[in-house]
Amino acid sequence: MEQTLSIIKPDAVQKNVVGKILDRFETANLRIAASKKIQLSKEDAEAFYAVHSKRPFYGELVEFMISGPVVVSILEGTNAMSLNRELMGATNPKEAKTGTIRADFADSIDANAVHGSDSLQNAKEEIAFFFAKKDIC
Ligand code: ATP
Ligand code: MG
Repeated sequence: MEQTLSIIKPDAVQKNVVGKILDRFETANLRIAASKKIQLSKEDAEAFYAVHSKRPFYGELVEFMISGPVVVSILEGTNAMSLNRELMGATNPKEAKTGTIRADFADSIDANAVHGSDSLQNAKEEIAFFFAKKDIC
């Protein structure tokens, strides 16, 4: 049984589609092992996306991620990490397959509705970034 981290980004929270997105995960047999709505601080967002700190879009990405609350969840299930990435669709919603979360709810490559861990090692680290062991069940 695998676990992965999902973030419903500020654009999707603002659009009031949190339930619709969580429903996609549950419909695909992923279980929500933990979930919370939080406002990230600038320090949180910078640390979380530190891997992108040298990329030209880093500043905008951090500003976007703190522009409103996010919903952070742990998704659990068979192949949870790659299944979540499939459900999300391509980073650029214009390239995302029909029926994916980004195709249906995202507007642009910045405001792209969701984040999902992209490897099992990153999933572990991202889960530990947001959740204590006692928060997960
Ligand atoms: P995420 O990490 O948010 O799940 P991803 O793994 O599909 O998305 P990454 O390459 O990790 O994509 O990029 C992280 C985030 O940075 C993207 O979700 C997007 O919001 C932003 N981003 C990526 N590439 C660009 C770009 N060329 N211009 C602007 N923003 C970008
Ligand atoms: Mg990524």
